[in-house]
Amino acid sequence: MTTGTPLAQRVALVTGGTRGIGLATAKVLAQAGATVVLTGRDEAVAKQVAEEFGGTGLGLDVADADAVGSLVRSVAKEHGRLDIMVANAGIMEGGLLGMVKAEAVDRTLGVNVAGTLHSVQAAARVMMRKRTGSIVVLASIAGEQGSAGQTVYAASKAAVSSIAKSAAKELGRHGIRVNAVAPGVIETQLTAELSEEVLADRAKQTPLGRLGRPEEVAAVIRFLVSDEASFITGQVLGVDGGLVL
Ligand code: NAD
Repeated sequence: MTTGTPLAQRVALVTGGTRGIGLATAKVLAQAGATVVLTGRDEAVAKQVAEEFGGTGLGLDVADADAVGSLVRSVAKEHGRLDIMVANAGIMEGGLLGMVKAEAVDRTLGVNVAGTLHSVQAAARVMMRKRTGSIVVLASIAGEQGSAGQTVYAASKAAVSSIAKSAAKELGRHGIRVNAVAPGVIETQLTAELSEEVLADRAKQTPLGRLGRPEEVAAVIRFLVSDEASFITGQVLGVDGGLVL
């Protein structure tokens, strides 16, 4: 089932799908035959990006619980179902602990933790009706191992791993699987904020000797949402070139 259209008839929603890992995921799910809806903070950008590969683009701030709920319900209503949710939207604001502002804490937890919770909750509500579905959330190696200068981000991502585990325990009996991927350092706009020195250092620390590409995370997400992963739930799967070791 690794070729062809294994996700035909499936409806997928990818939050934060306008670039980076989210866009690569939206594309790979569409290539596998799924009907794909992606969201971005700017609706015009989301529409333009989605049109390029035959998907639908919608505007959404995942920190807004009501907006997430109504968007998920309307996607499920329009397509008759929702099979796949990739709660990918996330932000990273670095800063040494002594310098971090309270607003940055609220912002990061609002998008990364509350935004992921809203997305998982809204998806689970509609998936429960059909007693089937697969959800993937975006954790991080930072959440698993900690990261100096990224305490708030790392804490938010540890929470995301925890969401996957608890939701998997609760939703399994409803036929819904929930997993997390924990990328290492992937070349996207998110990590473009880091200095060249830090990026070169991370590549050196990685056993595979380089940074990752968005497509390499997307391929794992595609596997996790497919029937090939039908007995996998509650896992936090590293996609990090061995950096975790
Ligand atoms: P990116 O910055 O390239 O893309 C993030 C996407 O999320 C964008 O489309 C952005 O518009 C969207 N987004 C941000 N805030 C949002 C909000 N409030 N509502 C809706 N959408 C919002 O980042 P990326 O590297 O592709 O990261 C995707 C996910 O993977 C994030 O959750 C990130 O934390 C996680 N991750 C990335 C890396 C990495 O090295 N790039 C490593 C570990 C985890």
